[in-house]
Amino acid sequence: MFNKRLKIKELLKQEAENQQVTIMGWVRSFRNNQFIALNDGSTNTNVQVVAELGKFEESLLKRITPSASLKVTGSVIPSLGKGQKLEVKATSIEVLGDSDPETYPLQLKNRPSLEYLREIAHLRFRTNTFGAIFRIRHTLAFAIHRFFNDRGFVYLHTPIITASDAEGAGEMFRVTTLPLENLPKNEDGTINFKEDFFGRSANLTVSGQLEGELAATALGEIYTFGPTFRAENSNTPRHLAEFWMIEPEMAFCDLEDNMNLAEEFIKFLIRYTMEHNHDDLAFLAQRLADEEKQLPQDKRSEMGLIEKLDFVLNNAFERITYTEAIDILLQSPAYKKKKFQYPVEWGIDMQSEHERYLVEKHFKKPVIVTNYPAKIKAFYMRQNDDGKTVAAMDILAPGIGEIVGGSQREERLERLEQRMKEMNVPAEDLWWYLDTRRFGSVPHSGFGLGFERMVQFVTGMTNIRDAIAFPRTPNNAEF
Ligand code: ATP
Ligand code: MN
Repeated sequence: MFNKRLKIKELLKQEAENQQVTIMGWVRSFRNNQFIALNDGSTNTNVQVVAELGKFEESLLKRITPSASLKVTGSVIPSLGKGQKLEVKATSIEVLGDSDPETYPLQLKNRPSLEYLREIAHLRFRTNTFGAIFRIRHTLAFAIHRFFNDRGFVYLHTPIITASDAEGAGEMFRVTTLPLENLPKNEDGTINFKEDFFGRSANLTVSGQLEGELAATALGEIYTFGPTFRAENSNTPRHLAEFWMIEPEMAFCDLEDNMNLAEEFIKFLIRYTMEHNHDDLAFLAQRLADEEKQLPQDKRSEMGLIEKLDFVLNNAFERITYTEAIDILLQSPAYKKKKFQYPVEWGIDMQSEHERYLVEKHFKKPVIVTNYPAKIKAFYMRQNDDGKTVAAMDILAPGIGEIVGGSQREERLERLEQRMKEMNVPAEDLWWYLDTRRFGSVPHSGFGLGFERMVQFVTGMTNIRDAIAFPRTPNNAEF
């Protein structure tokens, strides 16, 4: 058996009692031909391996270079160095894989920029920053299942390929096996999708919600957690073409129940991460503080990362209606001084600058905005009695903007059909969806949380490309 090793995270919990251990990892640095900082990815903290002078061949020591992989056996002794209680005094060092320092692209000494690290995303896992981010991303994913499992929700896998283009048709990626150079045509010149793989046109899913509703109206409470795809041609720090979404859907649930669950959910995820990734968060908090030192005073955050997370945990999210939000914007100094780039009036789809004003300047905490104009929201949202708004709710988070979008769903068949007609949603394609309203319809609600935006929020990363291992964005699908 090769792998009888102790993970560094476990080693660091032990007391130094001269015990023999075997550890394996990658070299982060090698000082004075004697002190190796070894990291195995289980924690950001490196363990110091001491190669006593004169004990090892010069030819071996030469091969201890950044990112070389080592198997080290030795005894655990108390450390005299500051910031570490123990170190490993090596009795044997084996180089498992060499790393040529002349060609190794990741030189940690000069703090590579996040932009550069995106170009070498295959190696960025080997930095402290991305080690911390991906361990936290894992914790969040685990916590999501934990949260819903503990509450009796059923994890539903909705299809990735769909033939329904009911939502945001313009933003979908098409899935086809038709020959692009010789497309089969109908008599009127349009493409004949009957000859395509599925006998109809198909796309990558933008959301599992409609299928989620089918399951929720029988199983009661379900959630999805899977990849979604949007061909949004916008290069922003908060949009990916491929991202992961969590979509709970609950029967017997109104808008208020929905908001309560979403707030509880977000707080649970934060609390769980703070409990399980203390060191990673502390590292990222420091990273963010260092980064913000480069910014002018008025662009810096008022709170550090940990403070911010604590604050979110300990305060109720502000809840306001869309109409109230517009009033606040119209009364704001920013509006009066013409600081907004986009117009503000009742009926607008709020832009990022408006959302950020509400969250970061006005309320200074997460805000849930409800009851949006029907015109700017999807056909399935429940119509309010005022005839103009729907029972929608978006959660806006500091530094991120929209993190959750949800609603109570229209459960009344006639209302839903009328709305679909108004919005040109083809009812015949969605016959299966409408069946939920024909047979035992119930009030029900759900929301979608963008996983990478949640990762951004918890890690303090300002660009969503740093919250997923291999980001897909316009003109970029490397790795
Ligand atoms: P936005 O206005 O920010 O584009 P949206 O209104 O299109 O968001 P929804 O369709 O409500 O978003 O999707 C639910 C959630 O999925 C959003 O609240 C957000 O967290 C996330 N999300 C949406 N689009 C993207 C994207 N392109 N990349 C990453 N996350 C996204
Ligand atoms: Mn969008």
